[in-house]
Amino acid sequence: MSVNAWLTLTVLSLLLAAMAFYLYWRERKHRLVLAAKLELATRKIESNLIFDDLTGLLSRVGFNAVVDKAIAQVEVGGGNFCVIYVALDNFGLLNDAFGQTSGDSLLRTVSKRLATCAGPKAEVCRITSGEFALIVGGDMGYGRSIAVRVTEVLSEPLKFDATHTVLSCSIGIAEYPTHGARAKLLANAALAMRSVKVNGGGDYCQYDPKMGVEVRDEALLINDLRRALDAGQLELYFQPKVDAFSLQVTAAEALLRWHHPTRGFVSPVVFIPLAERYGLIGAIGDWVIEEACLKAAGWRERGLRMRVAVNISGYQMREDDLVERIEAALQRNNLQPGRFTCEITESVAMEDTKVTQATFEKMRQAGFHVSIDDFGTGFSSLAMLRRLPAAELKIDRAFVTDLEDREDARSIAQSIVNMAKALNLHVVAEGVETQGQCNLLVEMGCHELQGFLFSKPIRAEDLEWLALDNKRQDVQFRPSLFMDTMDANL
Ligand code: C2E
Ligand code: MG
Ligand code: MG
Repeated sequence: MSVNAWLTLTVLSLLLAAMAFYLYWRERKHRLVLAAKLELATRKIESNLIFDDLTGLLSRVGFNAVVDKAIAQVEVGGGNFCVIYVALDNFGLLNDAFGQTSGDSLLRTVSKRLATCAGPKAEVCRITSGEFALIVGGDMGYGRSIAVRVTEVLSEPLKFDATHTVLSCSIGIAEYPTHGARAKLLANAALAMRSVKVNGGGDYCQYDPKMGVEVRDEALLINDLRRALDAGQLELYFQPKVDAFSLQVTAAEALLRWHHPTRGFVSPVVFIPLAERYGLIGAIGDWVIEEACLKAAGWRERGLRMRVAVNISGYQMREDDLVERIEAALQRNNLQPGRFTCEITESVAMEDTKVTQATFEKMRQAGFHVSIDDFGTGFSSLAMLRRLPAAELKIDRAFVTDLEDREDARSIAQSIVNMAKALNLHVVAEGVETQGQCNLLVEMGCHELQGFLFSKPIRAEDLEWLALDNKRQDVQFRPSLFMDTMDANL
């Protein structure tokens, strides 16, 4: 082989070796970059699983890991810890009313507040939407003290969508190891929280094994309630409101009754809150409105012109087409809007949410007669009361019951009457059972009375019979109610 050929071969070999090395180096670099990216992505996924994106708190997965660690510590060193389940009251409502962006910012504020009040040894996690859980070392007594602190911290006013809001929350506490193994601990704390919610929220309570039984019973009841409408098990009863001086009937309030096939009579106090929570109140409420209008049309055909009053729940007030649906029912039955009373409880009436207030405004435009029910138990502001299109206040039964025995009940009832008069509102007292209560209420200046003293809630046909046959002397119908020209604002 010539020298030239040998040289060419050497150079070619060197070139091939350099190329091979370069390819190897490029491949290795590529692999290293890929591995680094993979590790980063894995860490991100892990952190996303462990931490909640929106609030930076632990996620449900992170929570489980912390519970496992806490259980391991208890098993080695003894002692106990608590899981505190915190659910914001009405968070869904605020979110719907003000939009998700405002809702998200509220959740971030709540998260920060929870982190400050739980103490350095506690872990805070977001379970879902407006629900959180805290893990705190210590027994039930310590858990309760944290629950009190959480309630205080969350109830400090906060700015929400340009308005100042005060939040309330429902809290359930479960203690390890007394209240169940790992798998049950969070569920039991949530059960305790639900029992607070059922009773109106804004409080805390510790888990009790009886709670599971109640929840199962509730699930059975709601299942039956879904079928109750179609099965014709619901019925409206009517209770008259009478004029305080003439004792003649001016209106009849529709009160829902459920004839359950095996349980017998189920009170609306039990099933209306269930219907609200499980989304059945819309259908039931529509049926009540239609049925009440139908009965009122029947009374009208027989010459009776009394108003019909329907209880409207907070959930119905938040439906944006409620007023249109009532108007349609009134038109179908050829009734005037002024003859239809919407009874709305004070607590719902005072909700300053945009949707509720918009419904009130539409009620005013439609010309409905609006009554504020169970008045005196809430925290009404006078300014708010002035703005509402209400024509009537109903003094809560609790004050009427105590009227003869308690000075404070008399003072409250008298103040409500005075306030109503100052605002030019009609005052009705509900739950009047004795002649003594009746006399006191008349003396105070109440315009109308309602209660067992005059009549219990009765079937529509019985009310008609009472009106037309009119054999009972204690309850009569105003002659004017038979005339078309009667003043709608009576
Ligand atoms: P409410 O609207 O404040 O109705 C008054 C309640 O007091 C009725 O109970 C009535 O039967 C009862 N009551 C009336 N007079 C007396 C009395 O002199 N003594 C006593 N002890 N009780 C009296 P009811 O029918 O069990 O209804 C309870 C609540 O359920 C109602 O309170 C109302 O908030 C709700 N409700 C009833 N029907 C409906 C409905 O169709 N829709 C909605 N959303 N709620 C309803
Ligand atoms: Mg009512
Ligand atoms: Mg009431």
